[in-house]
Amino acid sequence: MSTDFTKIRAQFVLPDGVIYLDGNSLGPLPKAAAERVQRTVTAEWGDMLIGGWNKAGWMEMPARLGNRIGRLIGAEPGSVVLGDTLSIKVYQALASALELNPASKVILSDTGNFPSDLYMADGLVRTLGEGYSLKTVPPEEVEAAIDGSVAVLMLTEVDYRTGRKHDMAALTAKAHAAGALAVWDLAHSAGAVPVDLAGCRADFAVGCTYKYLNSGPGGPAFIYVAPRHAQAARPALSGWLGHESPFAFDLDYRPGAGIERMRVGTPPVLQMAALEASMDIWDTVDMQDVRARSIELCDAFIAAVEATCPMLSLASPRDGAGRGSQVSFRHPEGYAIMQALIARGVIGDFRAPDILRFGFTPLYTSFDDVAGAAKILAEIMATDAWNRPEFKARQRVT
Ligand SMILES: *Cc1c(COP(=O)(O)O)cnc(C)c1O
Repeated sequence: MSTDFTKIRAQFVLPDGVIYLDGNSLGPLPKAAAERVQRTVTAEWGDMLIGGWNKAGWMEMPARLGNRIGRLIGAEPGSVVLGDTLSIKVYQALASALELNPASKVILSDTGNFPSDLYMADGLVRTLGEGYSLKTVPPEEVEAAIDGSVAVLMLTEVDYRTGRKHDMAALTAKAHAAGALAVWDLAHSAGAVPVDLAGCRADFAVGCTYKYLNSGPGGPAFIYVAPRHAQAARPALSGWLGHESPFAFDLDYRPGAGIERMRVGTPPVLQMAALEASMDIWDTVDMQDVRARSIELCDAFIAAVEATCPMLSLASPRDGAGRGSQVSFRHPEGYAIMQALIARGVIGDFRAPDILRFGFTPLYTSFDDVAGAAKILAEIMATDAWNRPEFKARQRVT
């Protein structure tokens, strides 16, 4: 497959005067999504009322969309399902993985992981008690820390701040050799880098759809369970839609077949309609093409910024192969600099304490965007345009 990025870019709403480098946090609106959601609202919800669950196929959407995402992450058919938020799916995957491996009690993760993943793990070990614990080490020390005490290795493949990418195949193999299971968070991988869950023999994986997959704010998360575990994994969050027969209304929980058991409650139909429109675009895309172009875009941005802004230090790996689809720079005034950029139409984001983060998403980021963003950043740094009180006032979302 050879991906036509010019044609694909034209399928997104990109406001005039904006260079959008934050699709790693919230993907933009696919043009077809507005119409698709409108149709779900009026022709399905409006006309069919509750009949939409059967007639419009709402009940099958979580598994149907899971399969389409599955192609992007190397998952076997029928091994991915949508629902809930990523934090919830992290909990679910971890709880199931721990239960499958009762001989050990340690969850191993790294200090670069997204806090919510660590909070969820911490909450789970507190609930379990009984000697369970969460251990975190610096990202570069993870491999050495995998030993026989580890029950579950829980990592986010691509670091949300720096973009540093773990070696999923090698770390999963090491975890298995030590008798541990591996749970991978693909929040910054799905739609960003090629992932081969089946080839890596990952045990569980989770991710979100509102970042690179463009399902809109609050879009549902996804969970992957390796087929070899699917009939053994017990969902700790055992909701009625994960039951073998939800409409039997049994008083006892019986897990549904395979991945269906990872469903919890009523799925967000309107949000999934938006995701469907986005997946119509993704279905035409080859992840190898996305990866090649993403590395070129990121390399071009690094070169342009380093040529003009010596006061910014690169926080991301210089080697494209060791990086996700983002570039981060450090500066003590990073927050104000990002606000000044946003005021000039270059939208990235800031991650405490000092990281300016720029996402490069080949579906709609062009080389002109890279050059334009680097030029505006250079002007802001050369003139100290960031050094104004209005750029230093912290907003709720950074
Ligand atoms: C974005 C992100 C989350 C967010 O979780 P939600 O429950 O969707 O708010 C969690 N973990 C990682 C690694 C993320 O990048």
